[in-house]
Amino acid sequence: MRYVTVDTQSDPQATAFPSTEKQKDLGRILVSELLEMNIDDAHMDEWGYVYATIPATSPKKIPVICFCAHMDTAPDCSGYQVIPILHKNYQGKDIVLPNDNAQVIKQSDYPYLKKLIGHDIITASGKTLLGSDDKAGVAEIMDMANYLMKNKDVLHGEIKILFTPDEEVGRGTEKVNLEKLGADFGYTLDGGEAGSLEDETFSADGVQVTVHGVISHPGYAKDKMVNALKIAGEILDALPKDNLSPETTAGKEGFIHPVRMEGIAEKSTIEFIIRDFDTPGLKDKESFLKGWIDDVMENYPKARYEFIVKEQYRNMKEILDQHPQVVDYAKLAIERAGIEVKMESIRGGTDGSRLSFMGLPCPNLFAGEQAIHSKHEFISVQDMNKAVETIVYIAQVWEEKTV
Ligand SMILES: [Zn+2]
Repeated sequence: MRYVTVDTQSDPQATAFPSTEKQKDLGRILVSELLEMNIDDAHMDEWGYVYATIPATSPKKIPVICFCAHMDTAPDCSGYQVIPILHKNYQGKDIVLPNDNAQVIKQSDYPYLKKLIGHDIITASGKTLLGSDDKAGVAEIMDMANYLMKNKDVLHGEIKILFTPDEEVGRGTEKVNLEKLGADFGYTLDGGEAGSLEDETFSADGVQVTVHGVISHPGYAKDKMVNALKIAGEILDALPKDNLSPETTAGKEGFIHPVRMEGIAEKSTIEFIIRDFDTPGLKDKESFLKGWIDDVMENYPKARYEFIVKEQYRNMKEILDQHPQVVDYAKLAIERAGIEVKMESIRGGTDGSRLSFMGLPCPNLFAGEQAIHSKHEFISVQDMNKAVETIVYIAQVWEEKTV
């Protein structure tokens, strides 16, 4: 509850790194608390990343694992002057947020609340998001660190802690130093329901289509002008209406999604994002798109277009399948904490998908966060405790499984 009162909203427009200096305010608090726990190497670098090491208590040669969470909050909803409220022993009634009575958290909107009867629930006050995404993950990792530093009889290998800025603006791994971190495997704590474990994300590309028309004075343009704006309109119209779009797909289906267009009569640009759970499927979608554009362009022999594909991120499962123990040990730890494992796939990306391809295989564990990026955001204290238990057990399972 203390961490969420520190405003750490990131800024998608900013070019600086971190995108907002205020994210370092939380980084400084975390470093001083880690030092108080006698984690001597805890520090924040110039980019706002916090690194720390919990020394091993076991003599075995155990792979170094890392627990990672992000410090920033989403730009979608205010994170200024967050007032966290603890609702003890939730009994199923609507939760009316005191500073804006129009903000009501109801079971009919959030069925997961049915599982939280008897729990203590933290919300914001109605004016802001809560920021449990991902300060819950931060707090859970801090609690795990505090527990392990005080209970040296719990056997584990070396454990790394990594807190990152700017996840919400897609730049959380931009300046991370994995060599300095020195971990073999990682876990992000940035998920929802207790027991959930995500080992799969979209694979993602961006495609930029630039149409070059032919320009001339509009008064004397007969049989000469080819208008790039009109061609762009036809390309958008050629996209399928009942499939392959975000608004018509769910589950394991991917999509082709125009996100931005701009232009003048002479030249127009359309930006697409392409998503699929497997990379060959991604390439198929790109060739569908190219085919539809070719069909449109056939009617305009004097115009031409460019089609530029940029890789954004890849499904982390491609990497995690090469190291099945990372997910297997997390499953064992969740079960040991007395909860059911829920394997999930993310229709999006995480820092973990980028980290996995940068050399740190990194699935995403539950942190308990609910209704994220909104004023209705809430979290159960008991779920948070289960997350702490789970990561302590993960550290122990890695020790036990090492001969
Ligand atoms: Zn998050």
